[in-house]
Amino acid sequence: MFYLLQVVIEHGVRKLDRPFSYAYLGQNKIQFGERVKVNFNNRQLIGFVVEEPLLVEDSLEKYQEEKGYKIKPIEEIIDAEPIVDQKMFDLVLKVAEYYCCPLIEVLKVILPPSLRPNSQYAGKPKRSFRKVIVINDKFLSTTIQFNANETKLLNKIKECPQGLPKSQVTAKKSLESLMKKGAVSAEQIEIMRLPEIEYEEDSIHELNSEQQAAYEYLINSKKRVNLLQGVTGSGKTEIYIKLVKNCLDQSCDAIILVPEIALTDRMISRFKAIFGDRVALLHSGLTDAQKYDEYLNISREEVHVVIGARSAVFAPLKNVKLIIVDEEHVSSYKQDRMPYYDARKVAIMRMEQMQGKVVFGSATPSLECRARGDKGVYGLVKLKERYNSAHLPQTKIIDLGDFENIDYNSTLISIPLRQAIERTLAKKEQVIIFLNRRGYAPVYMCRKCQKPLKCPNCNLPLTYHKGQKKIVCHHCGYELQAEDLVCPHCQGTAFSFVGFGTERIQEEIQSFFPQAKIRRLDADTARRKGVYHSIINGFSKGEFDILVGTQMVAKGHDFPNVTLAVALLADQSLQFPSYKANEDTFNLLTQLVGRAGRKDKEGFAIIQTYSPENDIIHLAQSQDYEAFYQYEMKNRFDRQYPPYTFIVNITISANSSKEVEKASYKVKAYLFHQLQGGTRSELYGPSIPYIERLNNRYYRKIMLKYKSRKLVDAALKGLNVLNLHSSSVKIDVDIDPSSDI
Ligand code: ADP
Ligand code: ZN
Repeated sequence: MFYLLQVVIEHGVRKLDRPFSYAYLGQNKIQFGERVKVNFNNRQLIGFVVEEPLLVEDSLEKYQEEKGYKIKPIEEIIDAEPIVDQKMFDLVLKVAEYYCCPLIEVLKVILPPSLRPNSQYAGKPKRSFRKVIVINDKFLSTTIQFNANETKLLNKIKECPQGLPKSQVTAKKSLESLMKKGAVSAEQIEIMRLPEIEYEEDSIHELNSEQQAAYEYLINSKKRVNLLQGVTGSGKTEIYIKLVKNCLDQSCDAIILVPEIALTDRMISRFKAIFGDRVALLHSGLTDAQKYDEYLNISREEVHVVIGARSAVFAPLKNVKLIIVDEEHVSSYKQDRMPYYDARKVAIMRMEQMQGKVVFGSATPSLECRARGDKGVYGLVKLKERYNSAHLPQTKIIDLGDFENIDYNSTLISIPLRQAIERTLAKKEQVIIFLNRRGYAPVYMCRKCQKPLKCPNCNLPLTYHKGQKKIVCHHCGYELQAEDLVCPHCQGTAFSFVGFGTERIQEEIQSFFPQAKIRRLDADTARRKGVYHSIINGFSKGEFDILVGTQMVAKGHDFPNVTLAVALLADQSLQFPSYKANEDTFNLLTQLVGRAGRKDKEGFAIIQTYSPENDIIHLAQSQDYEAFYQYEMKNRFDRQYPPYTFIVNITISANSSKEVEKASYKVKAYLFHQLQGGTRSELYGPSIPYIERLNNRYYRKIMLKYKSRKLVDAALKGLNVLNLHSSSVKIDVDIDPSSDI
C-alpha cells in the first residue's frame, strides 16, 4: 500500500511545467497543498503536491510492474499542514493558464519566502513562542482565599487578556502559590513577530452628496467590476472606507491594492484609524520571519482587511468579497518579470471565483478600463468635484526651443521657470520639480573622439554621478571611477557630460537660489532606509523649500504648502517608444499638476517641452481626461492597439547574438505556421528591442496582436515545448504587457 502523489517541482522551466508522479510509503498524513523533498534527475529538489494523494492498495513493486515504469518515493514531507487551500490553488491554476507561465512560478509569488517551493528556503520556517501565565477560568468563581501579594499578581494577570509573559513576573513566590492553588497556569503561546503600527483612532467622515451617490451606486451595482473615476482630491479614499465597512459588517473580508505601499502613507493611516487591528499591511520591507508570521496571521483570519501592493491580491484571507484597486492606471500592478501577472486581472479572477466585487479607482483610468466602463462591461461612476471645491492649478507650457525663454546660464531651467520659483519662494510656499532621470548627466563622452562611454555588458550609455565620482550603468549596475578615466576608443583623458539628471538640476537650482533649502528624492537618495519617509515628511512639514526628484515626487502625496509643480522635460516620456507613451505622459503630468494647490491656496504648474504644439501636452495642460480619452482612443483604433486588440510580447534571449537571431526566426516560423500565416492574428518581428543587450545576454522581440485569445491559445502554449536546440536560449511570454517595447 502506498500513496501516489502528483508533484510539480521547483524549476520554473516551461518544459518541466507538469506534475510528476512520486510515491509516499510512510505512515504520516500527506495532503494536497504540502511541500515535499524529492529526487529529480539525481538532484534534491522541493516539490509541491498538486492533487489529493491517491491511496493505492497494491505494493509499489507490483504497481510499477503493471505500469511498466518506475515511481520514485519522495524523500521527506516538509509541511505538517497544507500551505495553500483548494480555492487559492484554483486561482493559481487560472493565473498560470492565462499568463502561459509555469504553475510553480505563481506558487512562488503567492507564498512568503520561507514557504516557497524553492531549495533556497528548504528549512522549515521557525515559529516563535513565549511562556505566559493565564487565569484558570474555573477558579474565578470559587472562594479560595488569596493573600495581598497573590491578589496583586492576580490583578496584574487579569489585565493581560493574552496572558502575562512569565519573564515579567517578579513575585516568583506568589506565582508558585497561585499555581498550586490552581488559580493560574503557564501556557506556551505563539508570538507574531510583526512590527507594531501606531495609529490614532478616528471616525468615518460623512460623505458629501456626490460621494454618497457614488457609494450607493457601487453598493447596488450588479456588475462584477466597477470603475470609480474621480478627479484628484475628490475623496475616493472616503468612499473606499465606506465600502470596506459595508463589507466587514456582512462578515466578509476586503483587500485594498495600492501601487506602492511607501507612497500611500496617508491612505493607510486613514484605514488604520478607522479599522484598527482588523487591518494588516503587507510591506516588502519585512524580514522572512515577519513575512511568514504575517501570512499565518492573515490565513488564520486574525485580520479582515489587507492593504498592500501587487502581490497582496493573493492575500490568504478566506472570505474576500471586495477588492479595491486604487490608482488603477498605474503600470506597477503588472509584474514585469515571470510570472508576468497583472493584479488587476487577478483581482477580477478572484472575485469571479468568490462572487465578490472589484472596484477600480482612478482620476485617469487606463483606456482599457474606461472603455469597458463605456461599453457597460464594467459599472462606471464619476466624481467630478474636488472635495471642498479646491481649485485645479493654472498650468503654463514653456517652449524650450524658443530662445527668448532660455539664456546661457542653463538650458533646462528656463527664465520664466526661474521667475515662477522666485515668486513662490517669496510667498514662503513650496516647489516640486520633476525630471525622470537620476544621476548628474545621462551621457559622459570623450572630448577627443566625441564617443560616449558605454557599458561593456549592455552597450548602453553610462550615466555620470558627480557626487559619487562614478560613471554607472543604470541597467546592470556596472560602474567606473570618474577619476583617472581613459577613453577605451582613443585613450583620451578629458571628458565632458551632456544632458541633465536630478543631481545636476539640484546643483543648478541651488546656484540660482543660494538661500533656498533644496532636497532631492530619487532612487539614489532613497536607497538608505528611512530616507524616503524623512524627505516626504520633512517636505510636508515645510522643513525645506524645493523638492527635486524622479517619479517618486509626482505620486499621490498631499503637500499643503506646495503651490508650484514643474515638469522639466515633458518630452522625455512622450518620446518613449511604447504605444502607451501618450497615456503614461498624460497620467504623469496630471498627477504632477495635481500636487499643486490642493487646499485653499492657488496653485500653478509649469510644463517645459520642446514640442509645445503636442496634443497630449495641451490635454494635460487643460486637465481634461475626457478629451484625452476620446483623442487617444481614436489613436489606438487607427493603429489597432489595446483596447481594440490584445498584445503579447515574446522575448527571446540567448548568450550570443547569433544564437538569439537563429532562435527568434525559429519562433517566428513556428508562430506563423500555427497562426495560419496571420489569419488569426498579426505577427511583428523579430525586432531588436529598446535594450538589445543586458548583462551580456542578447535579446530579440516578437509581438503578437490578436482579437480572440481562443484562436491563439494553442500557439502560445505550444511555445512551451518548442525545441530550440540550445540550452542558452530562453523564451519569455508576456501576456497583456504594460508596454510594447
Ligand atoms: P482622492 O484620493 O480622490 O485624490 P482624497 O481621498 O485624498 O482624494 O481626499 C482629498 C482630501 O479631501 C483629503 O484630505 C480628505 O481627507 C478630504 N475629504 C474627502 N472627502 C471628505 C469627506 N467626506 N469629509 C471630510 N474630508 C474629506
Ligand atoms: Zn550595463
